[in-house]
Amino acid sequence: MENKILIFGHKNPDTDSICSSLVLEILNKKSGKNNVEARRLGNVNKETQYVLDYLGISAPELLESVAEGQEVCLVDHNEFNQSVEGIEKAKILSVTDHHRIANFETSEPLYYTAKPYGCTSTILFEEFKMLGHEIEKKEAILMASSIISDTLLLKSPTTTDYDKKALEELGKIAEIDIEKYGLEMLKAGTDLGDFSEEELVNLDAKSLDKDGHKFVIAQVNTVSIEDVLKRQEKLESAINAEIERNNLELFVLAITDILNSNSEIIALGAKADVVEKAFGVKLENNTAFLEGVVSRKKQILPNIDKNM
Ligand code: MG
Ligand code: MG
Ligand code: MG
Repeated sequence: MENKILIFGHKNPDTDSICSSLVLEILNKKSGKNNVEARRLGNVNKETQYVLDYLGISAPELLESVAEGQEVCLVDHNEFNQSVEGIEKAKILSVTDHHRIANFETSEPLYYTAKPYGCTSTILFEEFKMLGHEIEKKEAILMASSIISDTLLLKSPTTTDYDKKALEELGKIAEIDIEKYGLEMLKAGTDLGDFSEEELVNLDAKSLDKDGHKFVIAQVNTVSIEDVLKRQEKLESAINAEIERNNLELFVLAITDILNSNSEIIALGAKADVVEKAFGVKLENNTAFLEGVVSRKKQILPNIDKNM
């Protein structure tokens, strides 16, 4: 077992999962708790890499599993099926999250901070304030990047006034032009060229479970849906392989146009018709266009979950 308290976000980590882990480590250290370390549960995506390169820092170390009794702090997730292997037997000291609470249970009391904000880093921003710690440039950029990523530059319907206020203040501390920096960061994440189809469908995939019905909602950001759909046939093979391997009843890949705020979905699996009911659309060639839909958390998942 590791001596340190490990801080990490969800599998297939996004910018919020990586940056909020790093920020919570900083926050703990500023509070005099030095025995903490940020970790990651998978590869860093290109958007997050842009942030790390911008700051000239390296990614947290990879964590593959935890031993029984390992002390951990979760950020940006709570569901065990999105967490590290062995989480059921770990000692969860805290959760800082902005998602629904599901598939989660502990045997001991814990700190649990859940707010329905657009981003985990917005919650951490408020913790800095509450604890009276100064926010320095590095953590300002980490938190701003998380907020930009999760809210798609405040355009996602998940965006709250708290996110707007935090991002504005963080932009000032970081001395960056949020629009310019944010667009470059988001665009860095849409460079999908050198990913295989198998990697693409797993890049930002969330495993979900509704009363034993297993399904996955994956998402890729793009500036051209058309470009991604050129790979539809191979993407479908990769999705079908995932369905087979993990006994899924549904796999939805949302291809999200970050400039126009729409998504095209590819839906496969025995329960693919669930998405037709969920969004009142007809699947054609396994795809459907969802106008104005960009948020998995607020728009895609709840509608599918209801109909599973
Ligand atoms: Mg996340
Ligand atoms: Mg998040
Ligand atoms: Mg996301």
